[in-house]
Amino acid sequence: MFVLNRQINTFMCSAANCSHGPGLRYFQEDTIPARLDEIYYKDLMQEIVPNNTPGATNAKLPFRDWAPLVPSVKYLETRGNTMKFFVPNNINGWETYVQFPEWAEQASDVELKAPEAARLLLWGGNVKLHCHCPSFSYWGFNYILDQLDASIYHEDRYPHVRNPQLRGVACKHLIRTLKVLPFHLGDIAAVIKAQRDRAKL
Ligand SMILES: [Zn+2]
Ligand SMILES: [Zn+2]
Repeated sequence: MFVLNRQINTFMCSAANCSHGPGLRYFQEDTIPARLDEIYYKDLMQEIVPNNTPGATNAKLPFRDWAPLVPSVKYLETRGNTMKFFVPNNINGWETYVQFPEWAEQASDVELKAPEAARLLLWGGNVKLHCHCPSFSYWGFNYILDQLDASIYHEDRYPHVRNPQLRGVACKHLIRTLKVLPFHLGDIAAVIKAQRDRAKL
């Protein structure tokens, strides 16, 4: 459950003697409800892709520009409601996680064909994120996402030193993962179908 103080306009650093003003430069447009206890994929993408980017305003995702990124994010597996990816770098790479809280609900609704359920999850469902890389914690992204109820793991520590302005929402691995996510609709559908088969739905 979300907590009552998770109200974007009144969001403050809770540390004693802290001069941080109300945080979160995001979601200040008045089209966004003040009470934001759910985060959709497209909300995150609006943070990552500025509105003046061609294609951003009509929300025609996936942008063709991101197709070249597809080979650099490896889809590993889905367990339950959580997809796992691997984003390689020069040395090794990091695992990223995308969780869909409404997955079970959509997967068990056999009125929906699996590809349709997958599209609903991606475009109309909540998402929660995690990356194992150090910057995800150090730069406060885990904290920022947790404030938005969009982190898989809880994080209460305000990033006083490294990111007191709370800039950004995700590390570069998660940003890359989110950009290619629409290209994995087929994988989501395949998992839903397999889960249905297993449950004999
Ligand atoms: Zn502070
Ligand atoms: Zn990362």
